Amino acid sequence: MSTPLSLETIRSAPKVLLHDHLDGGLRPQTVIELADASGYQGLPTTDAGVLGGWFRDNANSGSLVRYLEGFAHTCGVMQDEAALVRVAAEAVEDLAADGVVYAEVRYAPELFVEKGLSLEQIVEAVQEGFRVGSARVAATGRKIRIGTLLCAMRQNEGWLRIAELAVRYRDLGVVGFDIAGPEAGFPPTRGLDTFEYLRQQNAHFTIHAGEAFGLPSIWEAIQHCGAERLGHGVRIVDDIKVSGDGTVQLGRLAAYVRDRRIPLEMCPTSNLQTGAATTIADHPIGLLAKLRFRVTVNTDNRLMSDCTLSSEFAALVETFGYGWADLQWFTINAMKSSFIGFDERLAIINELVKPGYAALTA
Ligand SMILES: [Zn+2]
Repeated sequence: MSTPLSLETIRSAPKVLLHDHLDGGLRPQTVIELADASGYQGLPTTDAGVLGGWFRDNANSGSLVRYLEGFAHTCGVMQDEAALVRVAAEAVEDLAADGVVYAEVRYAPELFVEKGLSLEQIVEAVQEGFRVGSARVAATGRKIRIGTLLCAMRQNEGWLRIAELAVRYRDLGVVGFDIAGPEAGFPPTRGLDTFEYLRQQNAHFTIHAGEAFGLPSIWEAIQHCGAERLGHGVRIVDDIKVSGDGTVQLGRLAAYVRDRRIPLEMCPTSNLQTGAATTIADHPIGLLAKLRFRVTVNTDNRLMSDCTLSSEFAALVETFGYGWADLQWFTINAMKSSFIGFDERLAIINELVKPGYAALTA
Protein backbone atom coordinates (compact mmCIF):
# COMPACT_ATOMS: atom_id res chain seq x y z
CA MET A 1 0.00 0.00 0.00
CA SER A 2 1.41 3.34 -1.07
CA THR A 3 1.48 6.11 1.55
CA PRO A 4 -1.12 8.80 0.69
CA LEU A 5 0.35 12.05 -0.60
CA SER A 6 0.01 15.01 1.74
CA LEU A 7 2.19 17.95 2.73
CA GLU A 8 3.19 15.94 5.80
CA THR A 9 4.16 12.75 3.94
CA ILE A 10 5.89 14.74 1.18
CA ARG A 11 7.95 16.42 3.90
CA SER A 12 9.13 12.97 5.03
CA ALA A 13 10.35 12.06 1.51
CA PRO A 14 14.01 12.71 0.65
CA LYS A 15 14.26 15.76 -1.60
CA VAL A 16 16.95 17.61 -3.56
CA LEU A 17 17.02 21.37 -4.11
CA LEU A 18 19.26 23.13 -6.65
CA HIS A 19 17.95 26.70 -6.69
CA ASP A 20 17.56 28.45 -3.34
CA HIS A 21 18.79 31.98 -2.47
CA LEU A 22 20.35 32.46 0.96
CA ASP A 23 19.08 36.04 1.22
CA GLY A 24 15.58 34.91 0.18
CA GLY A 25 15.16 32.28 2.90
CA LEU A 26 15.54 33.95 6.30
CA ARG A 27 13.16 33.31 9.18
CA PRO A 28 11.10 36.49 9.88
CA GLN A 29 12.05 36.37 13.56
CA THR A 30 15.73 36.25 12.59
CA VAL A 31 15.33 39.32 10.36
CA ILE A 32 13.88 41.18 13.34
CA GLU A 33 16.57 40.06 15.78
CA LEU A 34 19.43 40.79 13.38
CA ALA A 35 17.99 44.25 12.62
CA ASP A 36 17.82 44.94 16.34
CA ALA A 37 21.37 43.72 16.97
CA SER A 38 22.90 45.70 14.11
CA GLY A 39 20.87 48.89 14.39
CA TYR A 40 19.25 48.32 10.99
CA GLN A 41 16.38 50.76 10.51
CA GLY A 42 13.45 50.52 8.20
CA LEU A 43 11.72 47.18 8.83
CA PRO A 44 7.98 47.72 8.34
CA THR A 45 7.18 45.92 11.64
CA THR A 46 8.82 44.08 14.52
CA ASP A 47 6.14 41.36 14.71
CA ALA A 48 7.43 38.16 13.10
CA GLY A 49 4.01 37.00 11.91
CA VAL A 50 3.18 40.36 10.37
CA LEU A 51 6.65 40.63 8.83
CA GLY A 52 6.34 37.19 7.20
CA GLY A 53 3.04 38.31 5.66
CA TRP A 54 4.61 41.57 4.53
CA PHE A 55 7.34 39.75 2.60
CA ARG A 56 4.77 37.49 0.96
CA ASP A 57 2.37 40.32 0.07
CA ASN A 58 5.19 42.39 -1.40
CA ALA A 59 6.30 39.45 -3.52
CA ASN A 60 2.69 38.89 -4.61
CA SER A 61 2.10 42.55 -5.44
CA GLY A 62 3.16 42.22 -9.07
CA SER A 63 5.56 45.13 -8.58
CA LEU A 64 9.22 44.30 -9.04
CA VAL A 65 10.17 47.37 -7.00
CA ARG A 66 8.21 46.09 -4.01
CA TYR A 67 9.54 42.58 -4.52
CA LEU A 68 13.11 43.88 -4.41
CA GLU A 69 12.35 45.91 -1.29
CA GLY A 70 12.19 42.61 0.57
CA PHE A 71 15.77 41.81 -0.41
CA ALA A 72 16.89 45.25 0.71
CA HIS A 73 15.78 44.27 4.22
CA THR A 74 17.25 40.75 4.26
CA CYS A 75 20.57 41.90 2.79
CA GLY A 76 20.46 44.91 5.10
CA VAL A 77 20.66 42.68 8.17
CA MET A 78 23.32 40.33 6.70
CA GLN A 79 26.28 42.71 6.82
CA ASP A 80 28.43 41.14 9.53
CA GLU A 81 29.98 37.72 10.02
CA ALA A 82 27.81 36.67 12.97
CA ALA A 83 24.66 37.41 10.96
CA LEU A 84 25.91 35.45 7.95
CA VAL A 85 26.83 32.46 10.12
CA ARG A 86 23.40 32.51 11.76
CA VAL A 87 21.42 32.87 8.53
CA ALA A 88 23.40 30.09 6.83
CA ALA A 89 23.11 27.73 9.83
CA GLU A 90 19.35 28.27 10.08
CA ALA A 91 18.91 27.71 6.35
CA VAL A 92 20.48 24.27 6.73
CA GLU A 93 18.25 23.46 9.70
CA ASP A 94 15.11 24.62 7.86
CA LEU A 95 15.95 22.65 4.72
CA ALA A 96 16.68 19.50 6.73
CA ALA A 97 13.40 19.91 8.65
CA ASP A 98 11.66 19.95 5.27
CA GLY A 99 13.26 16.64 4.30
CA VAL A 100 15.87 18.05 1.92
CA VAL A 101 18.91 15.73 1.80
CA TYR A 102 21.00 17.74 -0.66
CA ALA A 103 20.74 21.46 -1.43
CA GLU A 104 22.70 23.97 -3.46
CA VAL A 105 22.26 27.34 -1.79
CA ARG A 106 23.36 30.47 -3.64
CA TYR A 107 24.10 34.10 -2.87
CA ALA A 108 25.99 37.07 -4.28
CA PRO A 109 28.88 37.92 -1.90
CA GLU A 110 28.99 41.52 -3.18
CA LEU A 111 25.61 42.21 -1.52
CA PHE A 112 27.17 41.88 1.96
CA VAL A 113 30.11 44.31 1.80
CA GLU A 114 28.29 47.42 3.09
CA LYS A 115 30.04 47.38 6.48
CA GLY A 116 33.46 46.54 5.14
CA LEU A 117 33.57 42.72 5.04
CA SER A 118 35.87 41.37 2.33
CA LEU A 119 34.47 38.89 -0.18
CA GLU A 120 36.67 36.20 1.40
CA GLN A 121 35.34 36.95 4.90
CA ILE A 122 31.80 36.65 3.54
CA VAL A 123 32.41 33.29 1.86
CA GLU A 124 34.15 31.94 4.95
CA ALA A 125 31.36 33.11 7.28
CA VAL A 126 28.66 31.49 5.14
CA GLN A 127 30.66 28.24 4.93
CA GLU A 128 31.04 28.31 8.72
CA GLY A 129 27.28 28.73 9.02
CA PHE A 130 26.64 25.77 6.74
CA ARG A 131 29.09 23.71 8.84
CA VAL A 132 27.37 24.72 12.09
CA GLY A 133 23.91 24.03 10.66
CA SER A 134 24.95 20.65 9.26
CA ALA A 135 26.40 19.67 12.65
CA ARG A 136 23.15 20.63 14.40
CA VAL A 137 21.18 18.56 11.89
CA ALA A 138 23.54 15.60 12.34
CA ALA A 139 23.03 15.83 16.11
CA THR A 140 19.31 15.17 15.55
CA GLY A 141 20.12 12.01 13.60
CA ARG A 142 19.36 13.46 10.16
CA LYS A 143 21.69 13.99 7.27
CA ILE A 144 21.99 16.88 4.82
CA ARG A 145 24.71 17.95 2.41
CA ILE A 146 25.00 21.57 1.26
CA GLY A 147 26.82 22.83 -1.84
CA THR A 148 27.35 26.57 -2.27
CA LEU A 149 26.91 28.55 -5.48
CA LEU A 150 28.41 32.04 -5.69
CA CYS A 151 26.46 34.53 -7.80
CA ALA A 152 27.65 37.58 -9.66
CA MET A 153 25.02 40.27 -10.23
CA ARG A 154 24.23 40.85 -13.90
CA GLN A 155 23.97 44.63 -13.58
CA ASN A 156 27.36 44.98 -11.83
CA GLU A 157 30.93 44.62 -13.04
CA GLY A 158 33.39 42.18 -11.53
CA TRP A 159 31.95 38.81 -12.57
CA LEU A 160 35.41 37.36 -13.05
CA ARG A 161 36.38 38.24 -9.48
CA ILE A 162 33.41 36.21 -8.17
CA ALA A 163 34.19 33.33 -10.52
CA GLU A 164 37.77 33.29 -9.21
CA LEU A 165 36.39 33.21 -5.68
CA ALA A 166 34.20 30.21 -6.56
CA VAL A 167 37.24 28.37 -7.93
CA ARG A 168 39.41 29.31 -4.96
CA TYR A 169 36.86 27.90 -2.49
CA ARG A 170 35.82 24.86 -4.49
CA ASP A 171 37.46 22.37 -2.13
CA LEU A 172 35.83 24.10 0.84
CA GLY A 173 32.19 23.64 -0.15
CA VAL A 174 31.64 26.02 -3.07
CA VAL A 175 30.46 23.86 -5.96
CA GLY A 176 29.60 26.37 -8.66
CA PHE A 177 28.86 29.83 -10.03
CA ASP A 178 25.75 31.65 -11.28
CA ILE A 179 24.70 35.06 -12.50
CA ALA A 180 21.54 36.58 -11.03
CA GLY A 181 19.71 39.89 -11.31
CA PRO A 182 17.81 41.62 -14.11
CA GLU A 183 17.88 39.69 -17.40
CA ALA A 184 16.64 42.44 -19.73
CA GLY A 185 19.47 44.69 -20.81
CA PHE A 186 22.17 42.60 -19.15
CA PRO A 187 22.81 39.56 -21.35
CA PRO A 188 25.23 36.92 -20.05
CA THR A 189 27.46 37.54 -23.08
CA ARG A 190 28.64 40.71 -21.26
CA GLY A 191 30.91 38.39 -19.32
CA LEU A 192 32.23 35.85 -21.81
CA ASP A 193 35.71 36.03 -20.26
CA THR A 194 34.21 34.86 -16.96
CA PHE A 195 32.62 31.78 -18.49
CA GLU A 196 35.72 30.98 -20.49
CA TYR A 197 37.76 31.18 -17.29
CA LEU A 198 35.35 28.82 -15.50
CA ARG A 199 35.46 26.28 -18.32
CA GLN A 200 39.24 26.38 -18.37
CA GLN A 201 39.19 25.71 -14.63
CA ASN A 202 36.82 22.75 -15.14
CA ALA A 203 34.40 24.59 -12.86
CA HIS A 204 30.61 24.31 -12.90
CA PHE A 205 28.08 27.05 -13.53
CA THR A 206 24.42 27.70 -14.08
CA ILE A 207 22.84 30.91 -15.38
CA HIS A 208 19.50 32.52 -14.51
CA ALA A 209 17.94 32.63 -17.98
CA GLY A 210 14.52 32.50 -19.55
CA GLU A 211 12.65 33.70 -16.46
CA ALA A 212 11.48 37.18 -17.44
CA PHE A 213 13.23 37.26 -20.76
CA GLY A 214 12.70 34.99 -23.74
CA LEU A 215 14.58 32.53 -25.90
CA PRO A 216 17.60 34.73 -26.78
CA SER A 217 18.58 34.75 -23.12
CA ILE A 218 18.45 30.94 -22.95
CA TRP A 219 20.28 30.58 -26.25
CA GLU A 220 23.08 32.90 -25.17
CA ALA A 221 23.43 31.19 -21.78
CA ILE A 222 23.87 27.79 -23.41
CA GLN A 223 25.52 28.42 -26.75
CA HIS A 224 27.70 31.45 -25.98
CA CYS A 225 28.47 30.97 -22.31
CA GLY A 226 28.26 27.18 -21.93
CA ALA A 227 25.87 27.05 -18.97
CA GLU A 228 25.39 23.52 -17.66
CA ARG A 229 21.97 24.32 -16.21
CA LEU A 230 19.32 27.01 -16.62
CA GLY A 231 17.98 28.96 -13.67
CA HIS A 232 14.20 28.84 -14.36
CA GLY A 233 14.35 28.39 -18.16
CA VAL A 234 10.56 28.77 -18.24
CA ARG A 235 10.52 30.57 -21.59
CA ILE A 236 11.87 27.52 -23.40
CA VAL A 237 8.16 26.82 -24.00
CA ASP A 238 8.20 29.67 -26.53
CA ASP A 239 10.11 27.24 -28.76
CA ILE A 240 7.52 24.48 -28.41
CA LYS A 241 4.39 24.37 -30.56
CA VAL A 242 1.39 22.39 -29.32
CA SER A 243 -1.26 22.01 -32.03
CA GLY A 244 -4.98 21.68 -31.48
CA ASP A 245 -4.82 17.91 -32.02
CA GLY A 246 -2.14 17.60 -29.32
CA THR A 247 0.81 17.22 -31.68
CA VAL A 248 3.96 18.70 -30.20
CA GLN A 249 6.74 20.24 -32.23
CA LEU A 250 10.04 21.32 -30.68
CA GLY A 251 12.08 24.11 -32.21
CA ARG A 252 15.83 23.69 -32.58
CA LEU A 253 16.70 25.26 -29.23
CA ALA A 254 14.06 23.38 -27.24
CA ALA A 255 15.16 20.15 -28.92
CA TYR A 256 18.79 20.91 -28.05
CA VAL A 257 17.93 21.56 -24.41
CA ARG A 258 15.97 18.31 -24.17
CA ASP A 259 18.43 16.20 -26.17
CA ARG A 260 21.40 17.36 -24.15
CA ARG A 261 19.45 16.82 -20.90
CA ILE A 262 20.14 20.42 -19.82
CA PRO A 263 18.56 20.76 -16.37
CA LEU A 264 15.83 23.35 -15.84
CA GLU A 265 15.79 24.75 -12.30
CA MET A 266 12.07 25.53 -12.17
CA CYS A 267 10.55 27.51 -9.29
CA PRO A 268 6.75 27.45 -9.75
CA THR A 269 5.52 29.79 -6.99
CA SER A 270 8.29 32.30 -7.58
CA ASN A 271 7.47 32.32 -11.29
CA LEU A 272 3.84 33.19 -10.51
CA GLN A 273 5.04 36.15 -8.45
CA THR A 274 7.32 37.50 -11.16
CA GLY A 275 4.64 37.03 -13.80
CA ALA A 276 6.31 34.22 -15.76
CA ALA A 277 3.04 32.26 -15.37
CA THR A 278 -0.41 33.10 -14.02
CA THR A 279 -1.37 29.87 -12.25
CA ILE A 280 0.42 26.61 -11.42
CA ALA A 281 -1.89 24.87 -13.90
CA ASP A 282 -0.67 27.21 -16.66
CA HIS A 283 2.95 26.93 -15.60
CA PRO A 284 5.09 25.35 -18.35
CA ILE A 285 6.44 22.82 -15.84
CA GLY A 286 3.44 20.56 -16.58
CA LEU A 287 4.17 20.40 -20.31
CA LEU A 288 7.95 20.26 -19.88
CA ALA A 289 7.71 17.38 -17.43
CA LYS A 290 5.34 15.54 -19.75
CA LEU A 291 7.81 16.00 -22.61
CA ARG A 292 10.55 14.62 -20.34
CA PHE A 293 12.80 17.63 -20.25
CA ARG A 294 15.29 17.40 -17.35
CA VAL A 295 12.92 19.27 -14.99
CA THR A 296 13.81 19.98 -11.37
CA VAL A 297 11.59 21.64 -8.75
CA ASN A 298 12.93 24.44 -6.57
CA THR A 299 11.99 27.11 -4.05
CA ASP A 300 13.96 30.20 -5.22
CA ASN A 301 13.09 32.39 -2.20
CA ARG A 302 11.44 30.55 0.67
CA LEU A 303 10.71 33.70 2.68
CA MET A 304 9.31 35.85 -0.15
CA SER A 305 7.33 33.03 -1.71
CA ASP A 306 6.29 31.63 1.69
CA CYS A 307 7.13 28.15 0.43
CA THR A 308 9.22 25.06 1.05
CA LEU A 309 10.26 22.39 -1.41
CA SER A 310 7.54 20.19 0.13
CA SER A 311 4.86 22.84 -0.42
CA GLU A 312 6.02 23.26 -4.05
CA PHE A 313 5.75 19.50 -4.53
CA ALA A 314 2.32 19.47 -2.84
CA ALA A 315 1.08 22.23 -5.18
CA LEU A 316 2.24 20.22 -8.21
CA VAL A 317 0.63 17.05 -6.87
CA GLU A 318 -2.64 18.91 -6.40
CA THR A 319 -2.53 20.56 -9.84
CA PHE A 320 -1.14 17.82 -12.05
CA GLY A 321 -2.05 14.70 -10.05
CA TYR A 322 1.55 13.61 -9.65
CA GLY A 323 2.33 10.52 -7.59
CA TRP A 324 5.40 9.34 -5.69
CA ALA A 325 7.05 8.10 -8.90
CA ASP A 326 6.89 11.62 -10.34
CA LEU A 327 8.30 13.16 -7.15
CA GLN A 328 11.12 10.61 -7.20
CA TRP A 329 11.76 11.47 -10.87
CA PHE A 330 12.07 15.22 -10.05
CA THR A 331 14.36 14.33 -7.15
CA ILE A 332 16.65 12.06 -9.16
CA ASN A 333 16.69 14.63 -11.98
CA ALA A 334 17.94 17.20 -9.47
CA MET A 335 20.53 14.92 -7.91
CA LYS A 336 21.87 13.90 -11.33
CA SER A 337 22.15 17.60 -12.21
CA SER A 338 23.96 18.74 -9.08
CA PHE A 339 27.48 20.12 -9.18
CA ILE A 340 29.06 17.65 -6.74
CA GLY A 341 31.06 14.64 -7.93
CA PHE A 342 29.45 11.73 -9.74
CA ASP A 343 30.25 9.22 -7.00
CA GLU A 344 28.66 11.44 -4.34
CA ARG A 345 25.57 12.00 -6.48
CA LEU A 346 25.21 8.29 -7.03
CA ALA A 347 25.60 7.58 -3.33
CA ILE A 348 22.81 10.01 -2.41
CA ILE A 349 20.52 8.55 -5.09
CA ASN A 350 21.16 4.94 -4.09
CA GLU A 351 21.46 5.32 -0.33
CA LEU A 352 18.90 8.03 0.44
CA VAL A 353 16.57 8.86 -2.44
CA LYS A 354 15.62 5.45 -3.81
CA PRO A 355 15.21 3.74 -0.41
CA GLY A 356 13.16 6.74 0.81
CA TYR A 357 10.65 6.54 -2.04
CA ALA A 358 10.61 2.75 -1.95
CA ALA A 359 9.52 2.93 1.69
CA LEU A 360 6.71 5.34 0.79
CA THR A 361 5.38 3.15 -2.00
CA ALA A 362 5.94 -0.25 -0.34
ZN1 LIG B 1 16.80 32.60 -8.53
